[in-house]
Amino acid sequence: MKDKNAWVMKALHELPLTMKARAMKHFLRGNKKYMKKGIKADMDAIIKCATCPNMCKFDCPVLEAEKNEAVSPAGKSRIAYFLENDVIGGEYATELMYACSSCDACKEHCPFDFSVAEILRGVRMDIVEEDRVPEKVRSIRDELMEKHILGERSFYGEGKARVIYFAGCTINSERKEIGEAMLKIFERVGEDHDMLKEEWCCGYPLYNLGFMNEFKEFARRNAKIFNESKAEKIVCSCPTCVYVFTHVYPEMGIKIKPSVVHSSSYILQMINEGKISFGERKMSVVYHDPCTLARKLKKDDSRDIIKSIPGIEIREAMLHGRETRCCGRGGQMARVREKTAMEMAERRKKELNAMNADAIVSSCPSCKTALMNGKFYDIAELVAESMIK
Ligand code: SF4
Ligand code: SF4
Repeated sequence: MKDKNAWVMKALHELPLTMKARAMKHFLRGNKKYMKKGIKADMDAIIKCATCPNMCKFDCPVLEAEKNEAVSPAGKSRIAYFLENDVIGGEYATELMYACSSCDACKEHCPFDFSVAEILRGVRMDIVEEDRVPEKVRSIRDELMEKHILGERSFYGEGKARVIYFAGCTINSERKEIGEAMLKIFERVGEDHDMLKEEWCCGYPLYNLGFMNEFKEFARRNAKIFNESKAEKIVCSCPTCVYVFTHVYPEMGIKIKPSVVHSSSYILQMINEGKISFGERKMSVVYHDPCTLARKLKKDDSRDIIKSIPGIEIREAMLHGRETRCCGRGGQMARVREKTAMEMAERRKKELNAMNADAIVSSCPSCKTALMNGKFYDIAELVAESMIK
């Protein structure tokens, strides 16, 4: 961290005295003014980011897709500064606060360890408080408050088993085949498994879009159901559900008693315990790292699973691991900024297709929806298709 900050300190040190004084005056004035208003946004972070030379912007997939400096990481912080200060307003500026896929690519390069997604979350909370939420964003909240899931529910159970499979909104409504593959795997390994009677969304869209009261309602309800069940483990195919249950709920003081794991970790454990074995596959695959596994959770067992299937060759895309590129579906972009989300998906597809592999593999249902063309497997589908029956 010290080394990462060195260039900032050097740059500030080299500023002419008058500029240094002006920057400091702004900083102090900003802090004083905003702290008093009791706003949710972190003005200290906004000011630091807004005055940064946008060091991370070359890696922001939203900027790359929209080619508009206003949606660059520091660009959004600059707009946020003026929005919070009531210097600017209106739909265009407000909508820019949602031009972020929460991919955390900026954080990989930031000397302050900022994720602009986190900075914007506070700004969005203020937008909610001030009742200035754009219609497309409001519609996501309304749908969740009405149906408790985005899309339609397809999987039901009794919630009575050692392992609960939590499918999540995307699998329920768009990617049922991934849920079915996971159920096949549970059957194959003889797991005592079940699904909830009526799954509610983990709440991430509400959290990310700044609807904190609504998010807490979802979190408390989900935690109560899990904690009152006899489940020892919750398995999720969606990396975001894992992140929310293991990081965001605890931050809010909401604890889940069963352990929570991503499907890739569960499957690898089953392979290591000798409960899954594979027949030979003659094929090449390129693995697309979902942002949340690679950057937020920093744990993805999918490559080890693929390597344990005899005959499969893994090809690595130019951007992989923590340098992965967002598929475009993060941060509710597909509903809030559809064209940008589609452009981001097209760009990522090109990078993956350049590897000329027989199939693309990933471990996130949203990535599959965004990037599907030709042969595409979720890790659970690849395992279900390759395991010896
Ligand atoms: S996120 Fe960090 S590196 Fe990127 S513009 Fe903001 S302060 Fe600079
Ligand atoms: S989180 Fe991703 S999309 Fe959002 S500003 Fe950072 S790099 Fe851009």
